[in-house]
Amino acid sequence: MKCDRCGAPIWRVATKLGSLETWECVQCGARIPIGANESGRGDSVPSDSLHLSELQGAWLLMPSQERVQRAEALLPNMERLTLAQHLRRYLDKAGFSLGRISSADRQETVRELGDVGIEILGD
Ligand SMILES: [Zn+2]
Repeated sequence: MKCDRCGAPIWRVATKLGSLETWECVQCGARIPIGANESGRGDSVPSDSLHLSELQGAWLLMPSQERVQRAEALLPNMERLTLAQHLRRYLDKAGFSLGRISSADRQETVRELGDVGIEILGD
């Protein structure tokens, strides 16, 4: 589920009253009420997406502008770095944040990142 206001896909639980939760968009702070009992709703966020782990990645291949753009398209929440900063990390074999990836999409995302030349650290 994406935020209606800013399009960000990351939410946190702001308040919880019985079965009713209010979710807050991490990016812009928009709030929406969520009935926790309405598990069948198509547009509700699956419960495991509230517990997304933030992953670290590292370049296996020398990053290019195209590779960086492909990675950013795959991972809208990854750390925003310039190409020079990415190159620096590649040369230093240093990691950077890939943002949060839901477990449902993770396998596919990891495979596509491999195509781009990024390896997931500590996986
Ligand atoms: Zn928002």
